[in-house]
Amino acid sequence: MKAVTFQGIKDVKVKDVPDPEIRASDDVLVRITSTAICGSDLHLVHGFVPNFHKDYIIGHEPMGVVEEVGPEVRNLKKGDRVVVPFNIACGQCWFCTHELESQCDNSNEHGDAGAYFGYSETYGGYPGGQAELLRVPYGNFTPFKVPENCELEDEKLLFLSDIIPTAYWGVDNAGVKPGDTVIVLGCGPVGLLAQKFALLKGAKRVIAVDYIGYRLNHARTVNKVEVFDFTSIHDPGMHLKEITGGGADVVIDCVGMDGKMTVVEVIESALKLQGGAMGAIVLAAQCVRKGGTVQMVGVYGARYNQFPLGDFFARNITLKMGQAPVIHYIPELYKKIVDGVFDPTDIITHRLPLEQAEYGYSVFDEKEDGCIKVVLKP
Ligand code: NAD
Ligand code: ZN
Repeated sequence: MKAVTFQGIKDVKVKDVPDPEIRASDDVLVRITSTAICGSDLHLVHGFVPNFHKDYIIGHEPMGVVEEVGPEVRNLKKGDRVVVPFNIACGQCWFCTHELESQCDNSNEHGDAGAYFGYSETYGGYPGGQAELLRVPYGNFTPFKVPENCELEDEKLLFLSDIIPTAYWGVDNAGVKPGDTVIVLGCGPVGLLAQKFALLKGAKRVIAVDYIGYRLNHARTVNKVEVFDFTSIHDPGMHLKEITGGGADVVIDCVGMDGKMTVVEVIESALKLQGGAMGAIVLAAQCVRKGGTVQMVGVYGARYNQFPLGDFFARNITLKMGQAPVIHYIPELYKKIVDGVFDPTDIITHRLPLEQAEYGYSVFDEKEDGCIKVVLKP
């Protein structure tokens, strides 16, 4: 089969690789029909995630049609349509039964974290879903079966694999409530969805922050939120604090590690506290109100010296973060899509055959050609 593989920093290639096979009795083999590129994939191709090696298959936002099931799979059969969430989870352990599927205790034999498709040995070592076929473990729990009467096209459902529940969890976990002022750092796919969900939760004011004009424009015109270019002013943190009368109730970091830097620069900037890899966190520390909450959805992959811990401590800030537990959110968010409560498709700017993944990575990474979200079609 064809699959998107990591070859080196900023180097992905579509290669012919062996087809995956059913290995455990509850495995499901899925023929992928749509699969997206995520900001998290950029961290991998920038070399920011450890234990990721050459020829590794990338991708954790796929959906498709069941090709084959193991003998112990109960509710799926060949031909069923499924969304495959990025969390690989057993459904049985303490974490899976306490809405923390991203920390499943059984799926990762390599480390004390959960497991995700295409996200390095650290996160379980499972091949990813930017491929023609994907082996999905724990077929009785991990995949979401699209109801048979559903006529929605892939694009409406695909992001249930990650960024829809991730953005929703970010807002939910931060405790956004009616009347809140919410600052969303980042107007990538995750930030744009988080802005929508903050409004749905009743936030009275949502301020979207980025520096890429066309993305800010999307936030302003499509999500109809206030926008702020953090490079337009010398002290953006102070400005945001002023216009919110002391800071936002909730700040949601939808940025993570900054791909414009090399690994060496990330480490250096972390040591010197010059923004950079931690730019969003430093900004968040400045523009949250006393006693407010900073929710980190953006991914961080290292230990950071000079983390602004004292700033958070002095002002009684609650910090929340982590890999989103997406599985338990999918049914309710599926229903919201079916009911037309929100539309996740406005962020899709590029639809490409799998063979053109290299181009997709390039425009998504460089923020060129108006790119917000790339969907690959194997
Ligand atoms: P993206 O790269 O498309 O978007 C990031 C945006 O942040 C860009 O538009 C960039 O210009 C902007 N930005 C950069 N520095 C900034 C700053 N200091 N302040 C404000 N904006 C800034 O990525 P995405 O697909 O939207 O993903 C966003 C983040 O969410 C990534 O770190 C990704 O890894 C993470 N993510 C986390 C989870 C999870 O489970 N926690 C799941 C999915 C994605
Ligand atoms: Zn993702």
